[in-house]
Amino acid sequence: MVTFSGMTLTTSTDRASTRERPLDETARPAAERSVEAIHRSTGFHWVGNGFFVSTYFPSATLAAERVSPFLLMDYGPAREFSAQARGKRGVGWHPHRGFETVTLAWEGAVAHRDNAGHRGVIGPGDAQWMTAASGIFHEEYHEEQFTRSGGRLHMMQLWVNLPKQDKAAAPGYQPILAADVPSVALGSGGRVRVIAGEYAGVRGPAKTFTPIRMLDAELRPGEALNVELPAAHNALAMVAEGRARAGGNEARAGELLLFANDGDRLVIEAAEASHVILLAGEPIDEPIVQYGPFVMNSVEEIEQAIEDVQSGKFGPIPD
Ligand code: MN
Repeated sequence: MVTFSGMTLTTSTDRASTRERPLDETARPAAERSVEAIHRSTGFHWVGNGFFVSTYFPSATLAAERVSPFLLMDYGPAREFSAQARGKRGVGWHPHRGFETVTLAWEGAVAHRDNAGHRGVIGPGDAQWMTAASGIFHEEYHEEQFTRSGGRLHMMQLWVNLPKQDKAAAPGYQPILAADVPSVALGSGGRVRVIAGEYAGVRGPAKTFTPIRMLDAELRPGEALNVELPAAHNALAMVAEGRARAGGNEARAGELLLFANDGDRLVIEAAEASHVILLAGEPIDEPIVQYGPFVMNSVEEIEQAIEDVQSGKFGPIPD
C-alpha cells in the first residue's frame, strides 16, 4: 500500500542479519519443521485514511531472506468503520514497480482501479493478485457502498517479489473471487481454502511467477493443517484468530509463526477454533533494494523507476 511520500530507502544489507542455517537435505528423512520465531507486530499505522494496519515485515527482527519471496505484510485486523455520507477512505493514485501486490479481504470491501485498465472490488473471501512488474499506478479505497453503510474491515496486503528476469514483465491483474477459490474440507467442519499452490491435491487459481503456496484455513479445535513443501521454501503462518500450535510452540491471534527450513512438512494444529493464513514459497536469492513503492535489485534501478514515473513512462493517471 505505502504512500508515495515519506519513503525510506532500505537495502537488504540494512535488514537484520539472521542467516539461514546450512542444511544437508540429502541426509534428512521427512521431518516436521520446527518454529524458528514467533513474530508479533504491535505498531499500527494508517495507510491513507482507510487502512489501519500493522506491518509485520519488512522488520528489523525478521530478515528479508527469511520471508522471501514475500517482501511486505500489512495486516489489518477486523476494525469497525462508521458510516460515512461522503468522501472516500483509502489511498489515491500511487506507482509500484518490480513486484506484485496481493490483497485479501475477510470482511468489508476494497475497491481497486489501476492505469492498466483493471478495476474490481475485493470482498469477503476474495483475493486480488496484481502484478505491478514493469510499472503501474493504482488506487485503493473502501468500496463506495461499504463506506456509506460502514462496517467491519478485515484485510491483509502482501507484496510478493519478482525475480530480476520478471521485474520488467507487463502489468497483470487476477481478480480471484471467493467462489473461484477451491476448499478442502477437514474432518471436523473446518476447511482450507487454496488461493495459490496446492493442498491435498487441490490447486488454487493464482498464477505466480515463482512457486508460492497461499492457504486460508478455518480450523476447528484439534484440526490441523498438514503441508508438505520443499525444505528450502520459506514458510510463515499468520494466526488471525484463535490459538494454534506448531513445532511445540503456541501462537495467539495476531502472531506470525516463522518456520525453520529444517523439514519438508509442517503441521499447524488448532488449540481452539482458529483462522490461519499460511504463506510459503521458494526464496528469491537476489539483492533487494526498496524505495517506497519500488522494489528492485539495485539503487540504479530505483533511480530509473523514479525517473520513469517523472517522465510519464508509467502511463497516464486516469481521471
Ligand atoms: Mn499500492
